[in-house]
Amino acid sequence: MDFERIKEKLSILADAAKYDVSCSSSGSNRKNNNKGLGNSSGMGICHSYTEDGRCVSLLKILLTNHCIFDCAYCVTRKSNDIKRAAFQIQEVVDLTINFYRRNYIEGLFLSSGIFKNADYTMERLVAVAKKLREEENFNGYIHLKSIPGASDELMREAGLYADRLSVNIEIPTEKGLKLLAPDKDRKDFIKPMEKVKNEIIQYKSERKLLKKVPIYAPAGQSTQMIVGASGETDAEIMYTSAYFYKSFNLKRVYYSGYIPISHDHRLPSIGTAVPLLRENRLYQTDWLLRFYGFDIRELLNSDFPNLESDIDPKLSWALRNLDQFPIDINKADTRMLLRVPGLGTKSVHKIIQARRYRNLNWENLKSIGASLNRAKYFITCDSRIFETKDRTAAQLKGLILNNATSKFSSTLSAQLNLFESQTINSA
Ligand code: SF4
Repeated sequence: MDFERIKEKLSILADAAKYDVSCSSSGSNRKNNNKGLGNSSGMGICHSYTEDGRCVSLLKILLTNHCIFDCAYCVTRKSNDIKRAAFQIQEVVDLTINFYRRNYIEGLFLSSGIFKNADYTMERLVAVAKKLREEENFNGYIHLKSIPGASDELMREAGLYADRLSVNIEIPTEKGLKLLAPDKDRKDFIKPMEKVKNEIIQYKSERKLLKKVPIYAPAGQSTQMIVGASGETDAEIMYTSAYFYKSFNLKRVYYSGYIPISHDHRLPSIGTAVPLLRENRLYQTDWLLRFYGFDIRELLNSDFPNLESDIDPKLSWALRNLDQFPIDINKADTRMLLRVPGLGTKSVHKIIQARRYRNLNWENLKSIGASLNRAKYFITCDSRIFETKDRTAAQLKGLILNNATSKFSSTLSAQLNLFESQTINSA
């Protein structure tokens, strides 16, 4: 093996893969029953992030950065003048096994530029996973990128070896996709997603009847959208997300702020990357859809197309719907409890459990872990209401933001005092 050449390929192809944030291992539980190599647990393999927030927990590489497409936002696009490389199938297998044995990684995230055509590329991705599983008995985590337009047969095979599959939607609107990735067609994402969804359902139901039926893509499928490359609103992004979650049972949608790595005239002229805060607000909205029972139309709509930057989307919704508050913490249903700013899913669960035995008071709520700094403005407890009376949404927002700032300042000054006293003591 030419180690210098492999090292060079690794540096090119790992660097090209870092812009893909759609790697996560949650939900997979592949047991090592056959004395093979590795184990991917239900807790998921470890995640770590580079300073710029990109996930690098797995051996995360492209099979090649050659690509026949020319997506404006992508560093790998064919018109970009960069050094190109391609791994052979066996090289990826060997790297994965070697890194795994040295405890550098717990799995593989393998994506690729499009070589020749979708099927040719997908075939090679599948071959890597197949070799790892069948020849190396590798039971670690494998996340394969599905190549848009790949055949049903290859997608079926991919799910038999990979824990997770993902196709990146990349651009949230069809208009944006036409402009920035003219070679791509939304139908080409939808076809493999549909296939994976159906296979997961079918394999699951067959396994109920016959234990021998293999598990198909146990960690499901995910996708990624680039935020800020095509001028879309937060509403456009989150409506696309909601549609894909619902239609294809996606496990996760990842939001990746556009990084201006490319100088293509089709891209917006933004000098810096999309702020992480926008990504963060989109993730918060995503959680509200998946775990808090919100409908996307409540959070974003034509009157309210973008998320607020100074407050989170749940507080923003509550302030726009003050007529629904305050709610009685001892009587309200789960749906409304989940809508109270400051109450997370765990707190709500504990409240429901605890109030079976007694009426809860403010102290009880504190010990449950509710964040009363926020929640107190939206609830009654012990028949008492906290300072909400006749306050407007703007006043409440001001109060909450002031509380947050003074809490931050007092934590900061406590930390400074501690630092000072430690410095004095150690002087
Ligand atoms: S198809 Fe994928 S790898 Fe190729 S240019 Fe488009 S985004 Fe980049």
